[in-house]
Amino acid sequence: MQIEFKKNTNIEQIYNAISIILELNIKFELLTFDDIYTVELKDKLDESIFEKIKDNDCISKIYESKIKYMYSREFNDQDSIIKVNDLNIGNNFFNVIAGPCCIESYDQLLTIAKSIKASGANLLRAGAFKPRSSPYSFQGLQKQGLEILISVKKEINIPVVSEIVNLDHLELFEDVDIIQIGARNMQNFELLKAVGKSKKIVLLKRGFSNTIEEFLLSAEYIMKNGNENIILCERGIRSFCDITRNKLDISSIPIIKRLSHLPIIADPSHACGLDYLIAPLSLASIACGADGLMIEVHNSPKCSVSDSAQALSCNMFEEHMKSILNLSKFFNKSN
Ligand code: PEP
Ligand code: MN
Repeated sequence: MQIEFKKNTNIEQIYNAISIILELNIKFELLTFDDIYTVELKDKLDESIFEKIKDNDCISKIYESKIKYMYSREFNDQDSIIKVNDLNIGNNFFNVIAGPCCIESYDQLLTIAKSIKASGANLLRAGAFKPRSSPYSFQGLQKQGLEILISVKKEINIPVVSEIVNLDHLELFEDVDIIQIGARNMQNFELLKAVGKSKKIVLLKRGFSNTIEEFLLSAEYIMKNGNENIILCERGIRSFCDITRNKLDISSIPIIKRLSHLPIIADPSHACGLDYLIAPLSLASIACGADGLMIEVHNSPKCSVSDSAQALSCNMFEEHMKSILNLSKFFNKSN
């Protein structure tokens, strides 16, 4: 049950109006929708209590319903399709995003971009602003990196994905087709609100210690702020296994497909951190219903300035793409 309050009612007035609910320890949550407060009751309300509160001056209406989250199948039971120029992402479309962890130079990025495109990838990924665990690690070429990315995008005509870490940088991303919110920023709510208002296509990665519900609520932040162009990305969660970097939660893919209409792709690279696991984890993700993959590729993996152990060489990626495309066709998915 929802108790909606009139505009400009303050929190003190609300707590006065529901004092009987507080006394009875009935579970509730205070919600806000466009500056209007609503109290959502978690337990059923007795008729006699309802009669006592219903005539309070601050209350505008009381109704029986729960929130319809914009990410949910209740809100939209058809799979969403996100359009990136001529590409479709979601539903029965399958896309592969590939590229280096980090932009290192124009030549490096151009070489990799040409190669992954020839192997069948349809989007280029590359980081310019790198959120590194250590402040002493290379932080990316930043603005100059984005300029390189845009030149390569134009040179070989491929849509590009890059990570944003600061809402003040939004303007720099104007020519970036998909803005990535990385695992570390999945709950940076101000950043989520800003990309929500921006209307840019967003690739939202799951935080490594976040539940599926928290992941979907982060998508809700973006949608509620006006942007429904979201692609979710499962990239692995923390576990006790010390061989892999994280643990790819492939079960989250069918779970999210059941709960949400948004496309979900898998990133086996950051999930496992090891090149030899990328192939099996990619195929497992496709079998679980992933709408695409994000894979790190480097022209010289050993020399990659970041995440070198997980980078596939261009040749490995070319080989790997054959089985990826075969399996996705088997599941009637293509682009
Ligand atoms: C990345 O994709 O470059 C990255 C840093 O990934 P994540 O946020 O999943 O760690
Ligand atoms: Mn990386």
